[in-house]
Amino acid sequence: MITPVLPTYARIDLEFERGEGCWLVTKDGRRYLDFTAGIAVNILGHAHPALVAALTAQAGKLWHVSNLFRIPEGERLAARLAAATFADTAFFTNSGAEALECSIKMARRYHHASGADRPRMVTFEGAFHGRTLATIAAGGNAKYLEGFGPDLPGFDQVPFGDLEAVEAALTPQTGAILVEPIQGEGGVRVPPASFLRGLRDLCDARGMLLVLDEVQCGVGRSGLLFAHEAHGVRPDIMAVAKGIGGGFPMGACLATEAAAKGMTLGTHGSTYGGNPLAMAVGNAVLDMVLADGFLERVRAASADLTRRLAELKARHPAVIAEVRGAGLLLGLRAHVPAAELVVALREEGMLVPGAGDNVVRLLPPLTVSDDEIGLACDKIDAACRRIEDAMRMAPVMGAAE
Ligand SMILES: *Cc1c(COP(=O)(O)O)cnc(C)c1O
Repeated sequence: MITPVLPTYARIDLEFERGEGCWLVTKDGRRYLDFTAGIAVNILGHAHPALVAALTAQAGKLWHVSNLFRIPEGERLAARLAAATFADTAFFTNSGAEALECSIKMARRYHHASGADRPRMVTFEGAFHGRTLATIAAGGNAKYLEGFGPDLPGFDQVPFGDLEAVEAALTPQTGAILVEPIQGEGGVRVPPASFLRGLRDLCDARGMLLVLDEVQCGVGRSGLLFAHEAHGVRPDIMAVAKGIGGGFPMGACLATEAAAKGMTLGTHGSTYGGNPLAMAVGNAVLDMVLADGFLERVRAASADLTRRLAELKARHPAVIAEVRGAGLLLGLRAHVPAAELVVALREEGMLVPGAGDNVVRLLPPLTVSDDEIGLACDKIDAACRRIEDAMRMAPVMGAAE
């Protein structure tokens, strides 16, 4: 049945009134430990005082002027991102998919400006790049493409982590490789250690651009500012969103000067991208993430949580098959349907999102405390016991059928 809100989401019947750090609170006062964080978005938790202050201060001055005018906070954020990363330049967007759209256009335009016919991109099975026509074509997920054809041409999917398959898929028209350093929606899939290095080498040897999608794994989520830094590899173009706004909708396409050479006056635009509200919040988020000790603290929290999860896996081998991921982008691959574990955790008062490959994701705010990690593990323990109890009942129920 149609509903006033287009029914494309199977929504959980929970309404929250407010958030406090790692907690979401319902109208009737029930508190949930939030390890969804808006799907890796609220990296500083809910209602962080510095973000509330930045947003409200800006809200009283100026919301929107359009990119017809200079936006000083945006110039400042772009310069700070350039100083902290491989990039020389940034285009601000309102979402991850838009950051990818800009990245794809930029890669195609680079070769156009070089006088070459190389619009094709190698992408990976299990990838997620967003829900626009270009990004569903790039992701190649049949479920998201069905009925929306004709599919945008130009993308060649190969198995994730398979360098030989990448090489075999290259054609004279291939101009770029687009990859998530860690697949998020695909199931917290970490590729082999040498994979990104191998892609970089291939790109260098063949005059291709390496385009990274760090929408989910970027901005501190992996324990480093950006996940690719762990591999000593620099991309040419990188899409960022989610964490960069701490909950305010924004994204960015970052690039080197060379990769951006085709994006000249008038080649791209956005009405809202880089608006003063987003830029004020983006600078406030960056203040926190770049502060001394912030990323060290994420790595320590990750080490603690990962060690405890390994203990839980050992205690509940019939439920947890594998613990994987990096930083605070962690996944529990389940032996039972992952959705059952998501529901059992919710019954224990903890919110987690699922992912591909029968994985439950653990994506707490990066500010999660030691106590909250301990509590989360108690809840996972209890949820596993709940499932084990149900398993013991199941044969009896089966016999009665
Ligand atoms: C969420 C996500 C996107 C899409 O971002 P939207 O803001 O939903 O458009 C793209 N790539 C990755 C890796 C993501 O996790």
